[in-house]
Amino acid sequence: MVRNEVAMRELGPFIAGSWWSGAPLRSVRSPYDGREVSRIGVGGSRELAVALEAAAAAREPMASLPPHARATILDRASRAVTERSGELAEALADEAGKPLALARTEAERCAETFAEAARVARRPEAELVDLGGFPSGEGRFGLLRRFPVGVVVGITPFNFPLNLVAHKLAPAIAAGCPIVLKPASQTPSPALLLAAILHDAGAPAGAVNVVPCAANEMGILLDDVRVRLVTFTGSAEVGWGLKRRLWDRRVTLELGGNAAVVVEPDAGDLPTIARRIAVGAFAYAGQSCISVQRVLVHESIAAGLRDALVEATASFPTGDPAAAEILCGPMISAGDADRIESWVEEATRRGARLLTPLRREGNIVRPVLLEDVPRDASLWADEAFAPVAILATYRSFEEALDLVNDSRFGLQAGILTADVAKIQRAFERLEVGGIIQGDIPSWRTDAMPYGGVKQSGIGREGPRWAVEEMTEPRLLVLRRD
Ligand code: NAP
Repeated sequence: MVRNEVAMRELGPFIAGSWWSGAPLRSVRSPYDGREVSRIGVGGSRELAVALEAAAAAREPMASLPPHARATILDRASRAVTERSGELAEALADEAGKPLALARTEAERCAETFAEAARVARRPEAELVDLGGFPSGEGRFGLLRRFPVGVVVGITPFNFPLNLVAHKLAPAIAAGCPIVLKPASQTPSPALLLAAILHDAGAPAGAVNVVPCAANEMGILLDDVRVRLVTFTGSAEVGWGLKRRLWDRRVTLELGGNAAVVVEPDAGDLPTIARRIAVGAFAYAGQSCISVQRVLVHESIAAGLRDALVEATASFPTGDPAAAEILCGPMISAGDADRIESWVEEATRRGARLLTPLRREGNIVRPVLLEDVPRDASLWADEAFAPVAILATYRSFEEALDLVNDSRFGLQAGILTADVAKIQRAFERLEVGGIIQGDIPSWRTDAMPYGGVKQSGIGREGPRWAVEEMTEPRLLVLRRD
């Protein structure tokens, strides 16, 4: 694939409404071929302190910006994201190694996330509570309104560096909270471009600050009491560590999982299902928090699904992420590719069977399908975050539900059946944040409440729910006389 020579992307931190100059530049390299794709000004304690001051100073201007004005900013930003979607998609494809087709979809979703946040901003909620139902409340009414929490710190992962950043910045604007965001070191450009887009759309100076920095510099933000909410998306290990540190602060955690799909005998055409599962498991090298990791199939159709999945796995379009037909590109780093190789080797040493070969070229790991994976092996119990799927069979639907729940995570599960009683049963029993009927667990639309239970996190995203996390209720009690 021949790449056009484009001007080097060079971006610094975005603080208090302008680009910060003078921060030392760091190269970001493509995980596919190692070429330098961006040079990023990396902030340190000084830049973070200035960003925090700017956000604190923007607290009042943001809180007093009427909801319709916040919505206007968000609508303008949505249109700008659509207009600049090519540039944004290219930035995230370059830095994340995300296949271009998927990067373009992420840019479209980002515009929709801003548009949805605008809709949410236009519908501020307040409740009138009649307190007269209790003798001491006679003659009094309560007015319950939500107010912005104040300064928010957002921390985002490498894998959806545009739309997951939008899921922090857009609700912060809708809620009236200034935000300081630390993007992932491998994929900082999309967040920086979004900060400038929001500024051009009319966000007050200091409302949106994006500071690429080393994770160990974050203390200056995290330990400051002016920071009222830390909203983190990333790995369980880092997320729960933050929660421990921030025990007296609001924290939302959007973490990982080892999502399962249950395939019942009435699921439908097996080759079609297998191709759909392959997309959920292998697209973007499985580097999505709701990537299909465990495929649970009823024993009566297991042989047919196994054959269809082997075919879908072996033929999955894998390679150069800039090629139009490719859906599975490189893993984000050589270390992550090494890790998944060692997990597959561990599983096979302990009795798992490879249904397709384990092959690697550079950071590209070819999609792999296994069965008979022990339930305490890393491949079953931990988050693979790689193009690997494991197949297991069950006899009864209840056993399938037990297998889904046999996880320390609980983000989403897919249930492929049209049987209403089984769907209801799954809804009652599955310990997950969302159940996707008739599809893979990897399905998500940006307006829905999204988040996990167990070690997959706390709190929900999707602009309406994120705005709830970023606001708190305040009660005004009114006397009649
Ligand atoms: P990660 O290693 O946990 O990093 C996430 C972010 O946290 C990065 O910006 C990282 O900075 C920063 N960070 C790391 N250590 C930190 C610390 N001690 N204090 C403060 N910040 C720290 O995750 P990742 O590898 O980028 O992303 C993959 C993970 O994200 C997977 O587990 C995936 O399931 C999860 N994820 C969850 C969702 C969801 O919505 N539930 C969505 C997408 C991804 P550096 O980049 O500088 O290290």
